[in-house]
Amino acid sequence: MNNFQFHNPTRIIFGKGTSDSIGEWTAKYGKTVLLVYGGGSIKSSGLYDRALTQLEAAGVKVHELAGIEPNPRLTTVKRGIELCRAQGVDFILAIGGGSVIDAAKAIAAGVPYKGDVWDFFTNQARIQEALPLGTVLTLAATGSEMNGNTVVSNWEEKLKRGAGSPLLNPVFSILDPVLTYSVPRNQTVYGSVDIMSHVFEQYFSLTPDTPLQERLCESILQTVIENVELALDNPEHYEARANLMWCGTMALNGGLISVGVRNDWASHGIEHEISAIYDIPHGGGLAVVFPNWMKYVHKERIDRFVQYAERVWGIKTEGKSQEEAALAGIQATREFFTRIGAEARLADFGIGSDQLERMAEEAVRYGPIGSFKVLAKDDVKAILELSL
Ligand code: NAP
Ligand code: FE
Repeated sequence: MNNFQFHNPTRIIFGKGTSDSIGEWTAKYGKTVLLVYGGGSIKSSGLYDRALTQLEAAGVKVHELAGIEPNPRLTTVKRGIELCRAQGVDFILAIGGGSVIDAAKAIAAGVPYKGDVWDFFTNQARIQEALPLGTVLTLAATGSEMNGNTVVSNWEEKLKRGAGSPLLNPVFSILDPVLTYSVPRNQTVYGSVDIMSHVFEQYFSLTPDTPLQERLCESILQTVIENVELALDNPEHYEARANLMWCGTMALNGGLISVGVRNDWASHGIEHEISAIYDIPHGGGLAVVFPNWMKYVHKERIDRFVQYAERVWGIKTEGKSQEEAALAGIQATREFFTRIGAEARLADFGIGSDQLERMAEEAVRYGPIGSFKVLAKDDVKAILELSL
């Protein structure tokens, strides 16, 4: 196990009814608040009205930035920065999924920064200061509610990039699983694939002697696998929604399963290049890419793939070679994604090979990616080819 520090400053307020405390928690931190939300799901669910009533009762002055896109865009982030500066906003409240939260984080970092906020996403500048933010999560997926990461799309340049800082950890995140009852079927699937993918990025590691982290990973994976179909069959299954939500938060919170372990993140890097150009849902792209990444890299440390097959999928390895056992685990992953309704090929999104070269090139713009197997441009291209 590698040395590490672990400090997570985000307060989680979890459970049924916690969305009645939006006003109370916001008023602890802000007087003039930017409320950031997406394309309207919070309006149709009634959450918007409830939140505004609470914020008003708590004496908070509210400005709004509506219409954050899935795969949030730099232009929208910049509008938010201007709005905060013009209105003297002292706190940002994000109500939505990962896209809304990520946009809110980018705005929080951009407000006190004199340069172009995109600098943070292109390694030109480091985040030194940020407005505080809080979140009300409506979709179990990214873990953004308890980490310091943000991913933003520069649509004009067809680039999607991440940035991060502990300064972007929300000061609080309200996780009321009831808010996810209205998440449509496909987003429930994509969110679950994203959660599993976050675990994969940390579980498939060359770092030896990390049995606790490995078992935590396996538990999160199994819990997602056990609960997705319950939520798909009955979207108002409270326990299923609650378990998926907590898995999402635990899978990517800047610690728990990542500490002491060299992480990979190549599949996320590859997926970002796909959604940068084709604007597909992040979890959909991951469902396509991840099993192909697994096929491409599994020989680097086959025992971890055998362990995955055995412990996560219950595959009997007796009488099988290591290779057969590893491939059976990878196949089980693909079959599960397909069974819950995720896409298996880029062609399912209408994506062909014409931008493959560019995607591979951009994925390694700052050097080779990944650590389980370090991937150069040709490796990325090979994985994309397997994904066609
Ligand atoms: P999302 O893009 O935030 O939301 C997807 C869709 O779900 C939106 O159309 C949204 O509609 C809808 N939705 C959300 N909550 C809903 C609800 N309760 N009921 C009905 N519809 C609802 O999805 P996401 O997967 O959470 O976020 C994806 C983004 O996060 C990607 O850009 C990805 O790259 C990034 N990401 C970030 C991290 C991180 O650590 N920061 C990690 C992984 C991925 P409305 O717009 O109408 O609300
Ligand atoms: Fe992700």
